[in-house]
Amino acid sequence: MNDSFIIAVDLGGTSFRVALADSAATFLNRNAEPTRASDGPRIGMQRIIETIRTTASTVGMEKIKGIAVATAGPIDPGNGVILTPPSLPSWHNVPLKQHLKEAFHIPVWVESDADMAAVGEHRFGAGQGYDRLVYFTVSTGIGGGIIIDGQLLRGSKISAAEIGHIIVDPRGPQCNCGGKGHVEAMASGTAIARMAKERISHGSASSLVELCQNDLSRLTAEMVVAAARKGDNLASEVVHEAGTSLGIAVVSLMHTPDPDIVIIGGGVSNAGDLILQPIREVIADRAMIDFRNRTKVVQSALGDDSGLYGAIAFGLDKLG
Ligand SMILES: [Zn+2]
Repeated sequence: MNDSFIIAVDLGGTSFRVALADSAATFLNRNAEPTRASDGPRIGMQRIIETIRTTASTVGMEKIKGIAVATAGPIDPGNGVILTPPSLPSWHNVPLKQHLKEAFHIPVWVESDADMAAVGEHRFGAGQGYDRLVYFTVSTGIGGGIIIDGQLLRGSKISAAEIGHIIVDPRGPQCNCGGKGHVEAMASGTAIARMAKERISHGSASSLVELCQNDLSRLTAEMVVAAARKGDNLASEVVHEAGTSLGIAVVSLMHTPDPDIVIIGGGVSNAGDLILQPIREVIADRAMIDFRNRTKVVQSALGDDSGLYGAIAFGLDKLG
């Protein structure tokens, strides 16, 4: 693999990022562009192709041995098709792998971003040295990846581990997917902002009112976490409640693949112990006794870059 390089792409609803790495997984160049999902997949894919060319120009496209894409899911990883991701409206059944192969004539892999983030944390982040891990990404929505005996857990057709849709309260709020009481509807960034708004509209006092300049439509999970950090009661309660819901999902997962470590990533994980502590409390309270002291719960070590690192590791493994 001397003198050979790989391109990783992380495609999300807001932006996409392209990184060039060498065979030791060292980043040599990287670029980020807005996705503009509403322009549709044809224009979007063209812009991704152009950004790949620009990013690869540091070493020359002819030295690139493969392209590994981590994209918002759900996807069909076998065929490299983006199915119907909620964060990429109008990107339905998009054959991304085929398009990139036609453009570059080199191997292309298309995987779910949460799966790739799990691989990234396993190989380069908080999961190093653990062969059984569960990774949660908690941001606008909730996704995740599961690694068992060092291997990514796969579904038969679509990417597995849609762990954002574990039911934590059968009577809970409506989820984006149409289900009810899924952890995504109770602990995602969107859910955190919604819960804070609900409490404020019911008359509870909070510094958040000032923080969003009296306009509740501007309230974000980031603001809630910032206010919780400063000791705002309402914000602290909301973050704690989200952590408790996540904890319930984590306990259900602990009892199934019995992971050594649970890693929490995504924007909401920046809340650190404010979100991790309630998860640990639920584990101490509700997990079977033999599981309680076994599974570690930690924050992601690679942050936003876990998907890019995972795609690079995945692609380099495939190239051998
Ligand atoms: Zn759901």
